[in-house]
This record gives sequence, structure tokens and C-alpha cells, in this order.
Amino acid sequence: VCPTGALTEVDHTPKVIRAIADPKKTVIVQTAPAVRVALGEEFGLKPGTLVTGKMTAALRQLGFDYVFDTDFGADLTIMEEGTEMLTRLGKFLEGDKDVKLPILTSCCPGWVTFFENNYPDMLDVPSTAKSPQQMFGAIAKSYFAEQLGKTREELVVVSVMPCLAKKYECQRDEFKVDGNPDVDFSISTRELAHLIKESNINFAEIAEEDFDRPMGESTGAAVIFGTTGGVIEAAVRTAYELQTGKKLERLDFTELRGLDGIRSATIDFNGLPVNIGIAHGLGNARKLLDSVRAGEVNFHAIEIMACPGGCIGGGGQPLHHGNIAIIKARQEAIYREDAGKPIRKSHENPYIIKLYEEFLGKPMSEKAHHLLHTAYFDRSKKDIFI
Ligand code: SF4
Repeated sequence: VCPTGALTEVDHTPKVIRAIADPKKTVIVQTAPAVRVALGEEFGLKPGTLVTGKMTAALRQLGFDYVFDTDFGADLTIMEEGTEMLTRLGKFLEGDKDVKLPILTSCCPGWVTFFENNYPDMLDVPSTAKSPQQMFGAIAKSYFAEQLGKTREELVVVSVMPCLAKKYECQRDEFKVDGNPDVDFSISTRELAHLIKESNINFAEIAEEDFDRPMGESTGAAVIFGTTGGVIEAAVRTAYELQTGKKLERLDFTELRGLDGIRSATIDFNGLPVNIGIAHGLGNARKLLDSVRAGEVNFHAIEIMACPGGCIGGGGQPLHHGNIAIIKARQEAIYREDAGKPIRKSHENPYIIKLYEEFLGKPMSEKAHHLLHTAYFDRSKKDIFI
């Protein structure tokens, strides 16, 4: 059951199997950062065991044509969301009365659905940046399709997510072109484990493999999207360097980390204090948003994730029954993966740089806006759940 309390599980696995078997289709899979720190639990491995390479190899054995990483989409999200944050912050500081702060992160569809239903008076506050899943899909079916010489209809994009709300997100009308979705199907971590077992793949023995390029390259900043506090920490790493023109001396913003339900910190942007709020779990999100609405707090940016712990505690993950030790082990694995990455800032991902040079121009360009940004709607009066 989804911890957002909103969704029932719809299994897209049979459709994925049919797509893989269809010789006319090129099937691409993307895997979210939180999946690699939890999938191993379904195969008897300790919570927090990193199985990135085994997962990649298993996906290839399942027959996907390209095994990519949602983390590429997360790096792209930071480029767009970080730029938007700096633009809004700059205008706000210049006294522009039309600019609203705080800017709220928008990569969690459980949270997006929650505020569309409960805070329709605040729809201009969240970032317009699409989630990493949806940015990935939009680029796969435009830029990468062009590279392959294929139409978007010939591609099928599948996501493996820790999340049940992603199944709904990929079916939203805003994320379709002439009825063709940017992401066709989303399966959960548990559903992937089931598929691997049903296919008699020996997960314990399988040799590790790397993601394909270009959309399998990612940074440590993208990996930490998987835990509460990670999206805003990734955004700070990039926004600081873009804003100040200086290299960060430390990349680990430990003041943004932890598992307390509501947290706050002030980060010094070279003399400019930026106030950041973080909430995870929808009860905490409501408390924080109510205090924003009442004008009781003064944040410039807020990260909200619907699930306890963020995506590591998502409804599609191996069941943890609220065991905080399991959540902590997964969180530690996320930070280990980040620390071990050769590149840890989204704006230094060479394939993201190339994507802007060859295709998008610059962050928040007209093309980037068209492909990578969205709008929000008042859904308080109708039942949108599927
Ligand atoms: Fe999905 Fe992550 Fe949001 Fe939970 S926190 S609803 S897993 S995106």
C-alpha cells in the first residue's frame, strides 16, 4: 500500500513483457536511485546493500534494449529547478512583488497530488520543473529518439520506481504528446524483483554491469534524490556554484540530512543566507505548508517528499513495516553511493552538458521549458485517482 494513502497498486508488468517481446519496439528502462539500495532485500541481502550493477545486468537479461538511469533525469531536474530557484530568488531580492517564495520542489507526485488537492491557492509556488522520471521520458522520446533515427511511437519507456504514485504520474495528460506518453509504464521495486525471480535470473550470482550511455551517466547529486533532504542538497550544490561563481569547498551538507520529520537550515551563499525547509511524510508536509500559508516562517526553498524517509521508504519498495533501521540502512547506502561517484554535482555531468550544447540550448530555454516544465491544476473538487 502506498504511504501517501492515495493510490492502489496497478501492475504494468504484463504490458512491459509484451513490449519487450514486440520486435517493432525499442524498449528503454530507467531506474530510480532508491531502487538500487532496496532491491537486494527481495533476494535475501541485507538492507542497504547496493545492487546497482546486478540490477543493471538483470534488466539487460530481461531483454530491455537500453538500460538507463533516472539519475540522468535527476541531474537534469537540478539544472532546471536550480536555475528556476536562482531566478526567482534574484527577482524576489530585487523587490519584484510578483515573485513568490519559497519555491517548493516538485519531483514527488504523491506530494504534487496532495498540494493540488489541498492547497489550490498555492499552485504558483512549486517549481514548474517536471520530476526526474518525466524529464527522462521527455528527453528519451525526443533527443535520444532522434539519435536512434526512430519515432517516439517506436520507443517504449519503462521506469522502475520505489513509488506507486509514479504509475499515476506517467499517465497524466500533461505528459503525453498526441496521446503518446513520455513514460509508457512504471513498475515498482517489488514488481521488478518478482519479474527477475519469474525469469529464473540468478540475482545472487549475476555479474555486475554498467548503465548504457548517454542517459545512464549521472552524478552523486542525482543519487541523493532517493532520500529526504537529497533533492535540496543536490540543488544547493549546483545553485551555489552558479550563483557565486565559486567552487564549493564541501559537498556534504550534513545540516540538510537526517530523518527528523521537519528540518530547517540556513546555507551561506557567499554572504547571502538562504533559508531551507525540509519535510517528509504528508502530515509533516501539511504542518510546514500551513505555517508557510500563515506567513509564520521565512523559507526561500522547501523540499517535500510524501513518503517517510523520502523515496527509500516508498510504497513500491520491499516492505519495511515502519522499521526505522531498514530506512536508515537504505539512507546510508544512498550517501555511500554519492560519496563514491567521481562526479558529485549535476552541472558537471558531461552528458548533461552535451545535451544542452546539442539540443536544449540552456536551462529554462524555450525548448527546455516546453519539454521539461509543467503546470499544476486545482484538483480539489474532483477525484483524480486511478
Ligand atoms: Fe513516490 Fe518518492 Fe514521493 Fe514516495 S517520496 S510518493 S516514493 S516520489
